[in-house]
Amino acid sequence: MKKIGILTSGGDAPGMNAAVRAAVRCGIERGMEVYGIKRGYEGLLDGEIVKMEWHSVGDILQRGGTILRTARSARFMEQKWVDHGARMLEAFGIDGLIVVGGDGSFRGGVDLSKRGISVMGVPGTIDNDLAYTDFTIGFDTAVNTILGLISNIRDTSSSHERSTIMEVMGRHCGDLALYSGLAGGADVILVPEVKCDINEVCRRVLQGQATGKAHSLIVMAEGFDMDATELAKTLEEMTGREARAVVPGYIQRGGSPTEKDRRIATITAAKAVELLYDDSSSKAIGVNGGELVAMDLAEALNVKPEFNNDLYELSNILGKGR
Ligand code: ATP
Repeated sequence: MKKIGILTSGGDAPGMNAAVRAAVRCGIERGMEVYGIKRGYEGLLDGEIVKMEWHSVGDILQRGGTILRTARSARFMEQKWVDHGARMLEAFGIDGLIVVGGDGSFRGGVDLSKRGISVMGVPGTIDNDLAYTDFTIGFDTAVNTILGLISNIRDTSSSHERSTIMEVMGRHCGDLALYSGLAGGADVILVPEVKCDINEVCRRVLQGQATGKAHSLIVMAEGFDMDATELAKTLEEMTGREARAVVPGYIQRGGSPTEKDRRIATITAAKAVELLYDDSSSKAIGVNGGELVAMDLAEALNVKPEFNNDLYELSNILGKGR
């Protein structure tokens, strides 16, 4: 009987549980034994590996986070520990592994695949920073969570006639800021991919004030080369209007996954199981133009990120004021 494992790694993302559920049930359906590996690569190294049953993944589809827990493993960055991880899988008779995580987790997967393990990467990160797939699991939920926060902050900043700088996650990727800023009607979106002059930000806020706008909203990616508090201070000095930095932090990572995230998680994990069943070499699974795609795991990490400049330009036009 074929034995496969699944782990979740790196930052947690809403929808990871949907991926675990689909992997376990599709695996069992195909007559395989499916093992859950706790706490990402850390749990693999420590042999925290448990056999999953159909019912082990009941009632988790709607839950954020990951029932398998997750971790960042410093040990796994060392080759001797990757060897240890491969031996651990061998000891359990597992020759296929599903890794749900971001680029770092996929890199760990590539290392394992060099040791004869077939590794399927399922894109689980709110950052949307895996360029081979249109969207990663958790991104849509995080965007919608941020939208809710934007809506709340609009109420209070309009009442007090303030400017707000909302700093959102995403590491070096500006997608969370771009998509939430566009849908939330931000006056300015600041992302690491586009240089932006702070004088231009101040000019926009001043122009808004001059035309009677009660508030200004700036959505800034954490990877932008300025701190939100610093920007708020500069804005206050330049515009004479109160400005507040709002940094929601990990609130963006929690919550029940949206339909889209549950669907992407379910179909990519099901595909991962199918590929392992068919003895495929290591692949990264994702969606491209609505279609499922699977490409070589190492190659997937080399796909160059493409920032959506059209969307950025459109948000710029809509936010600039007249
Ligand atoms: P997120 O984007 O949500 O942070 P991630 O998967 O990119 O997710 P990382 O912390 O970068 O998160 O990686 C998760 C784990 O994967 C690391 O703690 C480490 O154990 C392993 N890993 C990361 N980079 C490598 C690498 N180059 N080689 C081997 N393993 C790695």
